[in-house]
Amino acid sequence: MTELPGPKSRELFARRNSVVSAGVSTAFPVFIERAGGGVLVDVDGNSLIDLGSGIAVTSVGNASPKVVQAVSEQVAAFTHTCFMVTPYEGYVQVCEQLAELTPGDHAKKSALFNSGSEAVENAVKIARHATGRTAVVAFDHAYHGRTNLTMALTAKNMPYKHKFGPFASDIYRVPTSYPFRDAGVDGAAAAARAISQIAVQVGTENVAAVIIEPIQGEGGFVVPAAGFLPAVADWCKANGIVFIADEIQTGFCRTGDWFACDREGVVPDLITTAKGIAGGLPLAAVTGRAELMDAVHAGGLGGTYGGNPVACAAALGTIATMRELDLAGAARAIEETMTTRLRAIASRHPAIGDIRGRGAMIAVELVKPGTTEPDAALTGAIAKACHAQGVVVLTAGSYGNVLRFLPPLVIGQDLLNEGLDVIEAAFDQLAA
Ligand SMILES: *Cc1c(COP(=O)(O)O)cnc(C)c1O
Repeated sequence: MTELPGPKSRELFARRNSVVSAGVSTAFPVFIERAGGGVLVDVDGNSLIDLGSGIAVTSVGNASPKVVQAVSEQVAAFTHTCFMVTPYEGYVQVCEQLAELTPGDHAKKSALFNSGSEAVENAVKIARHATGRTAVVAFDHAYHGRTNLTMALTAKNMPYKHKFGPFASDIYRVPTSYPFRDAGVDGAAAAARAISQIAVQVGTENVAAVIIEPIQGEGGFVVPAAGFLPAVADWCKANGIVFIADEIQTGFCRTGDWFACDREGVVPDLITTAKGIAGGLPLAAVTGRAELMDAVHAGGLGGTYGGNPVACAAALGTIATMRELDLAGAARAIEETMTTRLRAIASRHPAIGDIRGRGAMIAVELVKPGTTEPDAALTGAIAKACHAQGVVVLTAGSYGNVLRFLPPLVIGQDLLNEGLDVIEAAFDQLAA
């Protein structure tokens, strides 16, 4: 309808700039009025194609009927009592669902929180308490959040950590498996490299937990080589180390399974979830082996809003929708469409060095043709060109050279293809 951003969005953005901290950035300053099914409608009446899902959150859509109904009923009944004061059934039901759906058939328990970062912090608290050890190991290119402890776990300085230190202590970083930048290092070799470094530099018996994203999110959808995750998990098990899978971005059908760990049969001791769990409402969880989750003294875990009843209602509506519509299957169909189209684009554009990801979590890494030298400028230009044509895409990666696509799992194939047409045109225009 208008150029993007349109006049009303530009006016709102000026207001935003006078009252919102400059530290909070905006990727695409178009103000949204309604959204659903892969379409964002802005205040100027433009319809945008959503290939970002609010960073992997609205997997069931932005106003999914079961979520809307469950939330509406819960808001009308009560908005809050605090689960630590006077409990309610919704929290218990979410924990029952988590016990059933997360990897492994052992006895599991959960604790609910508000954000992914908070879940990660609590997973570390539980692992330290249960093991009586303090060291925590994370990986290169990892992203685990923006609070003090999770900044320490996150790898990338700009923008997440720059001048925000000092950071939490006893956090160590080791190399991951990054097939595109790691030619010749298979999963077993990459695991051996990481394990050797932990043993030498940290001391195996000092390690409380190893935390890993089964497929890295902000790091650029890096899928480790086959065998890497099982080898690290097995080594943790053999050494009494808590293996924490951070599935905040990969979980809840995003990668074509309920959880990304499912693909290689990896069973984490603790798993953190958030983002896709509740159709856009803030909810997060730590789920894990009952004996670990019960190791903490009563009152040691919690928070005023953790497992808010409205967010729990949204999660139950979300999970019911994922089951009913087989959204894991939908994610696999999205993978098929996206990788087929992206491979065709890559065949004409050698700037695409790698196409990777899984399910509805697909990325391309852009490089100077014929090398692995990152091309962040081209990546930014292509994202901008997509935005100008009304397609919401996100960038990622330690080197800022990854275009990532996270469509809602309920997006129609026609809309997805329309979005891919715009991406293709952007490459034809800018990568020639
Ligand atoms: C987004 C994310 C987090 C942090 O979640 P917030 O809700 O933003 O605090 C942690 N880990 C991973 C893998 C994420 O993608």
